[in-house]
Amino acid sequence: RSSAEKFEFQAEVSRLMDILINSLYSNKDIFLRELISNASDALDKIRFLSLTDKEILGEGDNTKLEILIKLDKEKKILSIRDRGIGMMKEDLIKNLGTIAKSGTSAFVEKMQTGGDLNLIGQFGVGFYSVYLVADYVEVISKHNDDKQYVWESKADGAFAISEDVWNEPLGRGTEIRLHLRDEAQEYLDEFKLKELVKKYSEFINFPIQLWASKEVDVEVPADEEESGEEEEPTESSSSEDEETEEEDGEKKPKTKKIKETTYEWEVLNDMKAVWLRNPKEVTDEEYTKFYQSLAKDFSDEKPLAWSHFTAEGDVEFKAVLFVPPKAPHDLYESYYNTEKSNLKLYVRRVFISDEFDELLPKYLNFLKGLVDSDTLPLNVSREMLQQHSSLKTIKKKLIRKALDMIRKIAEEDPDESSDRDNKDVEKTDENDEKKGQYTKFWNEFGKSIKLGIVEDATNRNRLAKLLRFESTKSDGKLTSLDQYISRMKSGQKDIFYITGTSKEQLEKSPFLERLTKKNYEVIYFTDPVDEYLMQYLMDYEDKKFQNVSKEGLKLGKDSKIKSLKESFKELTNWWKDNLASENVDSVKISDRLDKTPCVVVTSKYGWSANMERIMQSQTL
Ligand code: ADP
Ligand code: MG
Repeated sequence: RSSAEKFEFQAEVSRLMDILINSLYSNKDIFLRELISNASDALDKIRFLSLTDKEILGEGDNTKLEILIKLDKEKKILSIRDRGIGMMKEDLIKNLGTIAKSGTSAFVEKMQTGGDLNLIGQFGVGFYSVYLVADYVEVISKHNDDKQYVWESKADGAFAISEDVWNEPLGRGTEIRLHLRDEAQEYLDEFKLKELVKKYSEFINFPIQLWASKEVDVEVPADEEESGEEEEPTESSSSEDEETEEEDGEKKPKTKKIKETTYEWEVLNDMKAVWLRNPKEVTDEEYTKFYQSLAKDFSDEKPLAWSHFTAEGDVEFKAVLFVPPKAPHDLYESYYNTEKSNLKLYVRRVFISDEFDELLPKYLNFLKGLVDSDTLPLNVSREMLQQHSSLKTIKKKLIRKALDMIRKIAEEDPDESSDRDNKDVEKTDENDEKKGQYTKFWNEFGKSIKLGIVEDATNRNRLAKLLRFESTKSDGKLTSLDQYISRMKSGQKDIFYITGTSKEQLEKSPFLERLTKKNYEVIYFTDPVDEYLMQYLMDYEDKKFQNVSKEGLKLGKDSKIKSLKESFKELTNWWKDNLASENVDSVKISDRLDKTPCVVVTSKYGWSANMERIMQSQTL
C-alpha cells in the first residue's frame, strides 16, 4: 500500500517477535486467549467511560459490547473483532510496536533460558503471540476520536500504518486479522475454536460469538430436487404404488426436506460471574480456571489458596482472593517503586479498574483477586471513587480475610502440625495435597509477610504468627514462633535470635556456645530484611526478643558471676582504659560464653554487626 507509513519495531519487541516466529512451542493455542483478553480489556474501558458519558457508546450495533470471531477458510483468515475502545493512530504506533514495556526484555530473557511461553500474558506482551500462528497480521481499528486505520506487519522488523479506505467501517473497536500459516490451519476449524474458548476464556464477561455454520433442514419442491437424482418409477409400473398410497391415506409429498449449511452467531461462553455464585456451588476446578483467567497465569499449577466471601453491613461487597502458586518475576523489584495492587475492582458487576491501590496494602500486592461492591457509586470519576469513605472498611476486611486465608494454608498443612513426625496422622488424598503447601507459600511470599510486619502495625501480631524460620532446634525445617514458645525452657523469659548471612556461618558463632550448651533454642535470621523486621517486632505473646549478639542477654542466675566480676575487676578496667573509648562502651565479665574467651557485643540500641554489614553494602 503506497500511502502506508512505515515504522520499525523497537529492538526488544523485534527480538521477541523473532523468538515467537521461530518457536517450536507446541501449545500455539494461547494466541486466541490473548486476543480475547485484549478485546475484553478494550470493552471494559469503553464501558467504564460510558458510565459518566452515555453518548460515548454511540447507537445501533456500536452499543453491543461483544467479541466476534469469524473464519474464512478460503483465504485462511481468522479474525477477531470487538466493539471496545479502539486505538487511535498514535495508540497503534505505540502499543503495537514502538514502545517496549518493562516485561518485554524480562520475557525475552525468560524465553532464552527455557521459560514457559504460556505465561506471555503476565509480561504484558500477549498481543505478539499472534505470530505463533500467523505470518501476516492486520489490525484494523477505530477510536471515537480518530479515523479508521490499518496496522499491518509480516514480522520482518517493520510494520506499516495506513488510513483505512478499503474495509467496511467498524463503527468503533478493533478487528485483528490473522493470515494463518500453513501449519496453523487447524484454527479454521469451528470445533477447535469452540473448544479453546471453553478452555481458556470461559470467564470473560462479554459474549464471545462465533460465526458458526449450522446444518438446517430446508424444504425444497420434491420434483425438482429428485429429478435426475433418484430413479423414479415410471408411470406404467407405478399403479401398484399408487394403490398402496391410497390405502394409507397418504399423498405423495410435493416438497422434500434437505440439509443446507447456513451461518449464524453462536455465543461460546456463558459469562457466569463466579463471585456472584454461592461458594458452595463453585468447584475447585472452576476456581482454578477463574484464577487463571484473572491472573493471566496459565501455568499448570493451582493457586495455593483462595477465599470467596460476602461482606455485609454498612459496606457490602463480594470478593474472591487468590494466593498464586508462584511469585511473579518482578514482585520485589517493583515493590519499592510502585503501589500496584492486583485486585480488580467492580461496582455492581461493572469493571472499574485493576489499578486501584486503595484496596490492599502494598505488602499484600502478591494476591490476585476481585472485589465487587454494591455500596460504591457507579457514575463518579475515579478520583472521587478513590476518596470514598467505604474504601477504608473494604480494605480492612480484605486484609483480615487475606491473613485468615494464609493462616489456613498453614493449619491445613500436615507438615505444619507440631507433632509432624507423628505417624498416626491420617493419610488421605486431601492431606497429601495440602502437604508442604505452607513451606511453598513461605518460600514464594515469606518476604511479603516480613514487610507486612514492618509496615502494618495493626496486624503485626497476626503477621508474626505467619512467620517461619530455622533455629538451633528446628532440624533443618521451618518452625514458627508458637512452636518456639512451646519448646521454651521453664524460666526462659525471652525469645533468642541471632542474625547473619547464613545458617552455616551462624552455627559456628561463639554467641551460641553457651546457649546451646544450656539447651536454649536460638532463631537464625539470615535474610537482610530480617534486620529491619526485628526493629519492629519487639515482642510476641508477652515475650521479648533478644538478639544474642547484643547487650542484655540473661540466662538464668549464675551464682559465681558476682565473685568473678570482683576478682577480674582490675583486668576489665585495664581493657577498657586501653581500648579507644569511642570504640567500646564497656568491658564486662559475662556468662554468655563457653569455650571462646571473649566476644564483641553490640549495645542494646546500636546496629548489630550484621546490620552494619547490610548498611555498608547498600552505601558502597
Ligand atoms: P497487555 O494486554 O498486557 O497490555 P498486549 O501485548 O496484549 O499487552 O497488548 C498491548 C496493548 O495493545 C494493550 O495494552 C492495548 O493498549 C493495545 N491493544 C491490544 N489489543 C487491543 C484491542 N483489541 N483494542 C484496543 N487496544 C488493544
Ligand atoms: Mg493482553
